[in-house]
Parts: sequence; C-alpha cells; structure tokens
Amino acid sequence: MGTILKDYSYSPAKIHRGYSGKSLYINVSDLRIEQKEITDFLKEKFTGGKGFDLWYLWHAVTPETRWDSPENEIVMSVGPLGGITQYSGTGKTLVCSISPLTGIPIDSNVGGYFGPLLKFSGWDAFELQGKSDKEILIFIDGNNGRIQIEDAAEYPEDSHLLAEALTRKYAENEDDMVNISVVCTGSAAKHIHMSMLNFSFYDPRRKVCRFKQAARGGLGTIMQDKHIKALVVKYRGVKPNLNDVADISTINKVGVKYHKEMHDLDHKQNKMRQIGTANTVMIMSQYDLLPTRNFQTGGDPETVKISPKVFIEEWLTQGLHDGCWYGCTMACAKCADHFLVTTGPYAGQRVTVDGPEYECAAGLGANLGVFDPQAILEENFYCDTYGIDLISYGNTIGFLMECYEAGILDREKTGGLELTFGNAAASLEILHQVAQGEGLGKIAGLGVRKAKAYVIEHFGADPQFAQDIGMENKGMEYSMYMGKESLAQQGGYALTNKGPQHDEAWLIFMDQVNNQIPTFEDKAEALHYFPMWRTWFGLCGFCKLPWNDVVDPKNSKSAEPAKIPHHVQNYVDIFSAVTGREVDINEIIAMSERVYNFQRVFNIRLGKGLREHDYPPYRGVGPVTEEEYESRKERYDQQLRDWLRLDPNTMTLQEKMAAHRQYRTERYERLMDAVYERRGWTRNGVPTVEKLKALGIDFPDVLAVVEQKLGAEG
Ligand code: SF4
Repeated sequence: MGTILKDYSYSPAKIHRGYSGKSLYINVSDLRIEQKEITDFLKEKFTGGKGFDLWYLWHAVTPETRWDSPENEIVMSVGPLGGITQYSGTGKTLVCSISPLTGIPIDSNVGGYFGPLLKFSGWDAFELQGKSDKEILIFIDGNNGRIQIEDAAEYPEDSHLLAEALTRKYAENEDDMVNISVVCTGSAAKHIHMSMLNFSFYDPRRKVCRFKQAARGGLGTIMQDKHIKALVVKYRGVKPNLNDVADISTINKVGVKYHKEMHDLDHKQNKMRQIGTANTVMIMSQYDLLPTRNFQTGGDPETVKISPKVFIEEWLTQGLHDGCWYGCTMACAKCADHFLVTTGPYAGQRVTVDGPEYECAAGLGANLGVFDPQAILEENFYCDTYGIDLISYGNTIGFLMECYEAGILDREKTGGLELTFGNAAASLEILHQVAQGEGLGKIAGLGVRKAKAYVIEHFGADPQFAQDIGMENKGMEYSMYMGKESLAQQGGYALTNKGPQHDEAWLIFMDQVNNQIPTFEDKAEALHYFPMWRTWFGLCGFCKLPWNDVVDPKNSKSAEPAKIPHHVQNYVDIFSAVTGREVDINEIIAMSERVYNFQRVFNIRLGKGLREHDYPPYRGVGPVTEEEYESRKERYDQQLRDWLRLDPNTMTLQEKMAAHRQYRTERYERLMDAVYERRGWTRNGVPTVEKLKALGIDFPDVLAVVEQKLGAEG
C-alpha cells in the first residue's frame, strides 16, 4: 500500500432526473479537491458528457495552453442518460483534453464501468488539472463519500497487470470486484504521443479485468504527463433506477422493445453478439472499403484469412454475454480467452485479449498487409496493455512500411528490420520498441504527422509524397475506412472538429454504395445532420452501435432509412423519460449544434479550426501512385469518361492521374463550401455571429474569438 497523500470526505449528491448536480475538480499539483455545481445553465446549454467536458476545458485553458501545460485538463463525464440499465449502450464516458497530436480538444467515447460508477458516486463530471511531482493514483469511494490520493510508484505500469492489482486491492472479496473500475494507460505512455486510456470492467465469469479504450488523440500521454498512474472508482449497489428518472415505465417499455429486436435479428444481421464490430471486415473488403497496405487499396483476396468466420470458430469465446455496461443486449465486447503470447515481456503467458474490433483487424491487419489472426491478436493485446491507440499505430506503421517499400527507409535506417507490408514480426518488434522508447519505435510512437516530418528531414523523402500518403488530418490518424470513392466520407473525416474519426459521420454506404446523396447540397445536409446526431450520443452517455448496427427490416420502408427513425424515436423517448424534459428530434439536433459550434470556436481560439485545417491527404481522396491507379485501372479510366468526358486511351498514365487529382481536389473544395454554408459558417470555416446567437451560445468570450477572427479576415 502506497503512502496516502490526501484523504477527503464528501457527501455523495443524490441523483435526480439523470444528474447529480455536482462535478469533481482535483488539481494534482497541490492535491486540491473541490466540488462545483452543475447549474441549470450548464444543463440547458451543454446537456452533459462532451458538452460538460468542453465547457470546463474552455475555462481551464488559455490560447497559449499546450497539451503538456499544467493547466490542460483531462475532463470526463457520462451524461444524463448514462448508467440506465434498461436500454443497450448506456455506459459511455466522454473524455476531453487538449491533444498532443492535434493541439486542439480531443473527445473520445469509451465504455467500461468508470463513468456510470462515477456518477453514482455523486459526480456528473470530473476535472483533472495540474501535474504531480510523483506518480499517484486517485481512489473514489462512492458508497462512503471518500477520495484518497495515494503514492503509486509501487504498482506495475502495463494495464492488464495494473487494473488487476488495483481491482483486487480495493475489493473486499471476489463478489466486490464488479463494483470497481480502473482508468489507466501503459508503459508506452511516457514515450509516445498516441497513448490511450483503458477503462476497465471486471468480468466475473472469466475472472479478469476487461477493457474499453478512450483511444483517440493521446489521452494516455496526458495522464502520464500529469503523473497520474490510475483512477479508481468503487460503487456498490448498481440497480435500475439510480438515475431517479421521471418516467421509468417508458424506459422499461422502450428497453424491452429494443431487446426483442436484438434477440430476433442480430443473428440474422451483423452477429454483434458473436463477433462484435469485426463482423464487417469481409463486407468492407468486398466493397473496396477496407484500408489495405496504408490505404492504397480497399481490400485484398487474403482478407478471408481474417474473416468473421475465422475469429468466431477459432479465436473468440462464444456463448458468453459480453456487454461493457449492464443491460447491453448487443453485447459486442468479444474477446479471445487463454491467448498464448509469443513475443515481448509476456511471452509464454496466457491472457484475455479484448477484441479484435473492426478497427484492430483493419488497422493492425489489412492496413499492414497482415492477414494472420494470431499476429493481429498479439498486437491487439500489446497495444492495449502498453496503452497505445492501435488506430494511430496501424496508420503510422503503414506509413513507414510504404516508405520502406518506396526506398525512403532501408534496413540500416530501421535497425535491421525488413519493414515490408505483411511482415507481422517487424511490426510487433516496433511495437515493443515503442513501449521501450527505443529504435524506430521512437518515431513510430509520435504518429504520422511527426513521422512525415522525420523522414523528410532525416531521410530525404519527397515532401509532397510524404504528405500525400500520410493518413492524418489535423495531426490525428484516420480511422479505418477507405473514402476515396465517397466524397461525403472525405468530408466526414476531414471536416470533423477533432480529426478523422468516423464517430462524427460514416456516410460511405449512403454515398458510394446506395447513391442516396448525389448532389453537393445532399452531401452537405448529411454532413450537417449525421455529425449532429452522433454528437448527441456523446452528450448523453450512449454507445452509437445500438442505433444502427441491427435494425428492424421495416426500417427500409421508412422515408429516411439511413437515420433509423424507429431507433431515433427510442432515444427521444428515453431522453424525455429520464430528464422529464419533453424534446423532439429538432431539439436533440439543437443540443448537439450548440456543443459542436462551441468546439469549432474552441479550435479557433487555439489557432486552428479553419479551412486550411480541413484538407485530407490526397491518399484519402484519390490514387497517389502509379501502382495504385493501375490496381483499379478499369474504375479510374471509366471515371475519366463519365466525369470528365476524356478518352483514357489517348492519355498517358501521368496525364490520367493528373486529371483525377485536379477533378477530385476541386470537387472537395466545392464540398467544403457547401458544408460550411449548411453549418452556418463562413467560407473560411468560422461560425458566424448570427449562428452563435441563434444557438444561444453567444457568450462574450465565445463571440470575442469569432469577432477577432472575422475582423482579421476583413
Ligand atoms: S454495443 Fe458493444 S460497445 Fe456498445 S455498449 Fe454494448 S457492448 Fe459496449
């Protein structure tokens, strides 16, 4: 047991209509602990979750704040609907901070028990500020109203060991372990900018701590920089109506209706309960949407080796309910039990691997040309326990592999590694180097943007080529969907606030496959509605998956099937039933618009958030290399005929590629204009004063940022 550095008592606030009305502030520099009121103003304007996070973060930082400034905060909040147990996907915590990768606010949506248990312990939100001079852990005892800050030097670094140790430390017995959740990162966090946070939940059937990740943007790096080794919350007594909701019978009714749909339909549709999100790997490959070999192509015949069938039959434990919060009947949090680790510090041990999720199979598999389930699961395990965002890692290694194949890197520069696509052993070796802060791992851990700068400066890479193939925007790496043939998805990635993560908008099927949004105006409307709709999940504590991954077949007959109207109505009903505040879909969109525009202004306040920051790398828009063009020659040639009335037979390959580049680039510019106009922003991407007034977020400090920017633009 480490030395107790601070012992603080509080009276846990009673939750009413989804809110405890209190937020917790801890400054780890001087171990100051304070309570703040969650005012009606805050609830009305920012709802909860990411809204609360951004509000607190805005008031904590200045335009000069950088990710490692002491005043930067990690803020987390579960949202007013978080923690209800009657509907699927209600345990999500939103975590925000100024990102080491982007220099602007990151928001990451994570499952596990921490957020709901934090709220039941009396806290709607939790701010962590300052920097400790020693490694500490913070323990919140929600039943006894106690917070302890403890010296944490003696505990292991890697997540699977640390979460296990802390869960055992604070549990009175085996039955008590489900009442504890740990937030921690891993040994890589002190070396890299892409470290993530693991949020634990104890699995009593397997008797292990399981994890969900707040993966994007380097949140683990920030926690490590603050010398916070772990956060632990304990709350015993989860039951159906701890949120003291306004109308429990409506919530029960909507919940039962949804559970029946899952029971009747999941096995016929996505098999979320058998394989989780990796169910889409084959479909993505068939539609040429699975990033393969650093997003050069969208699929490969070898994908069959990492198909859902393979993982279901050979790797993932079946027949267990794998929800990451109580009441989730979608239960997609699958895992591989008794997995034998073959490399690195845990070689020879058997572990439980959480995953692979789709992003893992794509990012650590296809995107590296690796179609080997054993290798993917091993990288999955090590990314998780070392605290590495596997999306950012998969992109950075994909970039370095392409540099190797293009002759920019060689064995001498990689420390003897033959870093070709498909070399899983080399990728694993670099992963261990990342955790040690050694060799090529020092570069790989910094992410694609800094890796680009490094190969340009040290290895003479052509800057245009490096820029074209490095899959990042705003400094954050792309999540794993190929958007070359979906203009709307190109915007869905690069016109985001935080960087290219598809939780804002996933429009590929609507756009590319079903051709439901053919015009610029249609795409702009979709890039207004869907980001706002999806933002709302992060305000309230919801998981997005139960919204649209399994749906009633009658949905296809509805006026706007992509919106899944029958599930949207569920959410409208639940919001009203929890909070007692009658809303409709328009008010839901308005809630998100307030927070979304606030976040855009926040970016501008930090010197970003403008048109110049919203451009994708050309690899995300069209073919960069001759090989890439030739691999899909028929399609690209036909597009020249259809789109530009050109005859490809009379053109050189270089001319054809140049024509594509000009057309695709101009088309993206027109999309930006249309989206900015629909969102109520100027051509430079700045929310107008009128827009802010209409949303009711024309606070003096917000207006000052916008007016200064608009004034500077003349
Ligand atoms: S659908 Fe999956 S990720 Fe979402 S809450 Fe349920 S188990 Fe967790």
